[in-house]
Amino acid sequence: MPAGDHAVSSGHAADGRRASGLIDLHTHSRVSDGTQTPAELVAAGVDAGLAVLGITDHDSTAGWAEAFDAARGTGLTVLPGLELSTQLDYASVHILGYLIDPADPALLAESERTREERLHRAETMVARIAKDYDLSWDDVLAQTAPGATVGRPHIADALVAKGFVPDRTAAFGSILHWRGGYYRPHRAPEPTVGIRLIAEAGGVPVIAHPGARGPERLFAGSRVRSLVDAGLMGVEVHHRDNPPEARELWLRRAAEYGLVVTGSSDYHGAGKPNLLGENSTSLEAYARIVELGTGSAPFTG
Ligand code: AMP
Ligand code: FE
Ligand code: FE
Ligand code: ZN
Repeated sequence: MPAGDHAVSSGHAADGRRASGLIDLHTHSRVSDGTQTPAELVAAGVDAGLAVLGITDHDSTAGWAEAFDAARGTGLTVLPGLELSTQLDYASVHILGYLIDPADPALLAESERTREERLHRAETMVARIAKDYDLSWDDVLAQTAPGATVGRPHIADALVAKGFVPDRTAAFGSILHWRGGYYRPHRAPEPTVGIRLIAEAGGVPVIAHPGARGPERLFAGSRVRSLVDAGLMGVEVHHRDNPPEARELWLRRAAEYGLVVTGSSDYHGAGKPNLLGENSTSLEAYARIVELGTGSAPFTG
């Protein structure tokens, strides 16, 4: 079993499929930029034999209720969370927030503001792209679930539908790339602010994929200290975007600062190659998250 894979129990699901028993705490639905509804996401988690599925849409908790409903009777546990957009030196830094109070006014206000900024930013990017490609804002809306947190993946889907690129990944590598000529950043709070908001909402702040290109160069030791002082409780070490050296570095930092180490797929349905359970979290780490989070509770169906 590769490092970062932890089976809670192995055996067979009720219908005879092999249950992996894995704990995968980072996935997306159509409430943000995943391609499945929350109910379909939960069904995919059941199919993959997961023991625990974290639903962590970008800047939104709108998928929780549907995910809980869908889990009923399946035996799957849904860990509610979100993936908060923050930014540091113009780079985007994602903070996972587990077990937050979804009605916390300060966190709600900040995530709502980011969703609006994302919407305006997407409109601006589409206006720029429209100068060179036959693409309209309606084309993007046609790819976006009502109320969803809008991101480049929705523009990518519109570009795919129009036949300009074969898939999302190709769109991200060309037209939507930050050096592609059409890219615009969007405003978001600083990571320390996002971490504080999550912690004050009773949640467990975990830095997502810190070894991914953008964030990696930002996190000198002194900056890690300031994140921990702000309330950072965990780090997503086992993620396909973290190269081996980054995993080693963050494992050392986790030990030094007492951070919970997680691993997850960052599954986006058909939108990304990431597969459910490709990375996972240990039962001990999951238990600590459940112990630390006070704003909401995991739902076992
Ligand atoms: P944005 O936040 O709007 O700048 O868009 C970046 C988001 O696109 C990240 O959350 C990625 O997870 C997501 N994404 C979805 N599909 C892909 C893909 N095929 N390649 C790169 N990023 C993707
Ligand atoms: Fe995403
Ligand atoms: Fe992310
Ligand atoms: Zn994600």
